[in-house]
Amino acid sequence: MKALSLFLLVAVAGSFISGCSPAKSPPVSARARSARGTAPFEQGPAMRNPDAHMSRDFSSQRVSYSRVSAPGPYVALTFDDGPHSSNTPRLLNILRARNVKATFYVIGKNVDLYPDIVRRTVAEGHELGNHSYTHPVLSKLSQAALFSEIRKTDDAILRAAGVRPRTLRPPYGALTQSQRELVMSTFGYPTIMWSVDPMDWKKPGAGVVTSRIVQGTHAGAIILVHDLHASSVDAMPATIDSLLRRGYRFVTVSQLLAMNQSAQAQVIANPETLVQAGR
Ligand SMILES: [Zn+2]
Repeated sequence: MKALSLFLLVAVAGSFISGCSPAKSPPVSARARSARGTAPFEQGPAMRNPDAHMSRDFSSQRVSYSRVSAPGPYVALTFDDGPHSSNTPRLLNILRARNVKATFYVIGKNVDLYPDIVRRTVAEGHELGNHSYTHPVLSKLSQAALFSEIRKTDDAILRAAGVRPRTLRPPYGALTQSQRELVMSTFGYPTIMWSVDPMDWKKPGAGVVTSRIVQGTHAGAIILVHDLHASSVDAMPATIDSLLRRGYRFVTVSQLLAMNQSAQAQVIANPETLVQAGR
């Protein structure tokens, strides 16, 4: 508990308190405004998400989540529909430069197409989630077809990267309550929805995606983005930098879920990296 208090004190003393309160919309930064339209990449050294060694172990008490009660300004960036041959590697570069760990809800069919990218994603510390094998409307499928979609993806991820996903995001968010309960009892996957949706799949432009995410983000947010689209990836440098500047810290979905059980949350922060991040 001491470590948690110390970390929160340092994190809050950084920029969160002056940056924004989750209750009101933070102002869109000049940098985010400048990103509208043209320059997808920012000049100069990227801001870095601090190293924070947090538990990834959760035993889910709920069958689905769209946000989490986090003990600080933690958020999870999630990317759907990949891996994509060029957008996903470009996104991985952007995340690596900022020390941001994200969660990728991959389509099993694409995992089989690009296993090397999936391996790289895991090697760089990101989490993989199950997003079905062929991206159907799961709520319309029989139980056997639903289980097949999940199992085939699980197997593809295991073949490619040697890990198994621990959560499911249904395509279009379409999964009935009874299916969610069934998936939880059969696979142990909680269903992960989202609380911030920039509607980036409509390709409104990188600047609009950035400003929607920055304005919608709150502590415990699960942010939905699609690395299938180049313009969504274009939006990430300004989006991530703007959220870091506001004091938000990026964790994976499993880490966010582990935090939800606040009594069990283990937060062991490295003060040195936090001080660096506060510059
Ligand atoms: Zn999808």
